[in-house]
Amino acid sequence: MAGRAGRLHVIAGCMSSGKTGELIRLLSRHAVTGDPIVIYKHAVDSRDGCKARSRLGTEMEAIVVESPEQIEIDGAKVVAIEEAQFFGEELVPVVRRLLEGGHLVFVTGLNQDFRGEPFGVMPTLMALADELSLLTAICQTCHGVATRTQRVIDGRPAPWDSPLILVGGADCYEARCPDCHEVPGRSA
Ligand SMILES: [Zn+2]
Repeated sequence: MAGRAGRLHVIAGCMSSGKTGELIRLLSRHAVTGDPIVIYKHAVDSRDGCKARSRLGTEMEAIVVESPEQIEIDGAKVVAIEEAQFFGEELVPVVRRLLEGGHLVFVTGLNQDFRGEPFGVMPTLMALADELSLLTAICQTCHGVATRTQRVIDGRPAPWDSPLILVGGADCYEARCPDCHEVPGRSA
């Protein structure tokens, strides 16, 4: 008889929706089992070095990787992948392999990019998920319910044609509701 199949839980949402905090909460439940846990995060998101850190201050050790091929499991039963939107489609076969191997897989990521469009590999992972947590945040402009990520460059809303991923930090991001989300030059 084959072993028990794996399980995919995707935690998606906009900026500041508490994805990492929710991930750490879910992972901490496995502490009682003693099952080994490993967290991978993409090198693009190097804010906190080798930590997965929530805004409430909880944190866990993470391994920084640049591509899905670097995700190697050494006996870890529980595998988490943070900031999945930064990985390419190559992440899908890696996740499928983990599930076939009976791993419990948690994935966090932005479901929409700064334009409000589906972000990278996230739509596929959300469709494959056994469980989906879609988190919301508080709009930094009107304090309503935020589901979008606003990119701001030099204090102004970033135009539609700015690059999808900006590395270097001239840009910053805010949680916004759909009414307050601005993308100048949006093509229809
Ligand atoms: Zn708003």
